[in-house]
Amino acid sequence: MTAGIIRNIVIVGGGTAGWMAAAALSKVLGTQKYSLTLIESDEIGTVGVGEATIPTIQEFNRMLEIDENLFVKETNASFKLGIRFLNWSAPGSDYFHPFGVFGVDMNVNFTHYWMRYHLAGGSADFGQFNPQTLAARLNRFSRMHEINPRAPAVNYAFHFDASLYAKFLRRYSEARDVIRREGKITHVTQDPNSGDITSLTLENGQTITGDLFIDCSGFRGLLIEQTLKSGYEDWSRWLPCNRAVAVPCDKVSGITPFTTSTAREAGWQWRIPLQHRTGNGYVFCDSFLSEDTATDHLMQRLDGQPQADPRVIRFVTGHRKKQWNHNVIAMGLASGFLEPLESTSIHLVQEAIMKLIKYFPRDNITDSQRGSFNRDMLFAYDDVKDFLIAHYKTTTREDTPFWAHCRHMDIPDSLQFRLESFAQHNQSLVQPTELFKEASWFAVLAGQGLMPKSYHPVVDLMPEDEFRWRMDRVREGSAGLANAMPDHEAYITRTCASPQMVQVQSA
Ligand code: FAD
Repeated sequence: MTAGIIRNIVIVGGGTAGWMAAAALSKVLGTQKYSLTLIESDEIGTVGVGEATIPTIQEFNRMLEIDENLFVKETNASFKLGIRFLNWSAPGSDYFHPFGVFGVDMNVNFTHYWMRYHLAGGSADFGQFNPQTLAARLNRFSRMHEINPRAPAVNYAFHFDASLYAKFLRRYSEARDVIRREGKITHVTQDPNSGDITSLTLENGQTITGDLFIDCSGFRGLLIEQTLKSGYEDWSRWLPCNRAVAVPCDKVSGITPFTTSTAREAGWQWRIPLQHRTGNGYVFCDSFLSEDTATDHLMQRLDGQPQADPRVIRFVTGHRKKQWNHNVIAMGLASGFLEPLESTSIHLVQEAIMKLIKYFPRDNITDSQRGSFNRDMLFAYDDVKDFLIAHYKTTTREDTPFWAHCRHMDIPDSLQFRLESFAQHNQSLVQPTELFKEASWFAVLAGQGLMPKSYHPVVDLMPEDEFRWRMDRVREGSAGLANAMPDHEAYITRTCASPQMVQVQSA
């Protein structure tokens, strides 16, 4: 147990994680009883990437009571309906992992009905039964309730400028009395008996004391690792990419409502469209490709003029063994990193914030609070891990040493079991608490070409006429929703364009 009542909370780091934590805690705890201080160093700066999100961010915005159009405008955001995966299964392959489900679940997941349809000769294009996929193909977007309040919701997330997002949340937090201190932390003081952290000293000599510290200091993990030596679980044997080179480029016309992930020689390239520019990056493994070659390849494959010099970022996939250690809780890159393939890092920050709120100590920190937080966070990381590995493992590519390695690498038993179950019966064995549900597993595994051999027997109980009628209605319904949406860029222009977007459009 950590002695002392928690009143002074100190957040180390002003990247996405630090300002998300500050905004959420200032909203939920308030600053009457608690004091909230955030320390960041302009000299060190932030990682400066992290632009694609998943739909759970909507819950975060709702918790903060943020006006969504204002948020979109101020972060130069665009809307995201899913991820298009090019060349992943084989050169030339193309599939879409949408947010939201396929069709309408009846007594079992709709994908089992689709299997019956497909095995009887129906089209292999399961995207026809998902409005997000169809809208993405047409470059369309709208919040459905604005078109028809009775229409089913279309699930979406955002692409945004990470540095503008941090600034946006900073304004939000400072308006709620979060104190910001600028300066580099050069010394960390621990209680000689308990080992808990008691204060931080900045380069200018200023000392900041605290009862609870949230380490959002990025990959270095200033408190959680450099001070408390919490240990790191390295997952690079399954997720071998360990470098990314990133560069923004000029926007091309037509903002796509999706992220594009294109498999390359030794990894994959992202393309993330914002209102005023496009974010690009090549995530790769340096055992198969040098940093210089990856940079050259990325620069040759941009669809607009580069706006900055390319920047290489090094990382090791995995997580801290203890994410809450003593009176320090790690969030963001300080807690671990699972590579950006499914845009899960910002979600994991959100998850850590929600767990901290759930287990927030009334007085002293207890072992059970720490233990529960650590268990939940390790589960959250673990659950995303298998889904990411599945993208690599199920490739049929052997055309480069990297892809041959991925195809033949060992995978965790949990994933092996899941892949076998999916291949046999379309059962991806998703637990209710998992982030990625059946629809996501189906989209990715079937998209990668791993088509299940059979489906749930209850599906065959439906008479053929009714079956055909229902499938036609679901397909028409999905197409109807997509067709009702306006062009994505036109929608942004009408509802939430930033001044920079207007400037770029009129240039
Ligand atoms: P940082 O941005 O590194 O911030 C660290 C902060 O700590 C800075 O303010 C720094 O000044 C401060 N600091 C450090 N040391 C000190 C010190 N001694 N004194 C004072 N201050 C200090 N996530 C997604 O969800 N979607 C994506 O598409 C995505 N893409 C990514 C692509 C790449 C290549 C990488 C590497 C990450 C990506 N991420 C993505 C992850 C995302 O970038 C991070 O989760 C997010 O930005 C949070 O970063 P952070 O705040 O933890 O760290």
